[in-house]
Amino acid sequence: MVQFDKYDDSNIFARIIRGEIPCKKVYEDDKVLSFYDINPKGAVHILVIPKREYMRFQDFCVLSTSQDVAHFFKILNQIALDVSKKYSGYKITINNDTGGGQEVPHFHAHIICQ
Ligand code: AMP
Repeated sequence: MVQFDKYDDSNIFARIIRGEIPCKKVYEDDKVLSFYDINPKGAVHILVIPKREYMRFQDFCVLSTSQDVAHFFKILNQIALDVSKKYSGYKITINNDTGGGQEVPHFHAHIICQ
């Protein structure tokens, strides 16, 4: 299995964070950015990412502070609740490493409503 081994700051989400590429923003604070997925796999498909450079889920959990991890998941929960009001529920997906279906090497969570 191929794994990402070093953070590549030319990845598409790093470029979105730097404002080099536009996104349809859902939420932003100093640590977290959320925007609509360009290729939605449901009626609603939103991505939530930390602004700091973490390649994958375990990097975020291990290298980030507990406070930042908690903040990320509280925001993820709040966005999921807000955007799913019209739907009967939502799915949160985190793809991890290429073998886990991760294409963009910047940690992110998907929120999908069908
Ligand atoms: P993953 O397979 O978990 O790495 O998911 C990457 C996601 O990023 C896919 O669902 C893509 O459709 C989405 N994506 C790629 N480029 C962009 C972009 N410029 N703006 C918004 N979403 C994007």
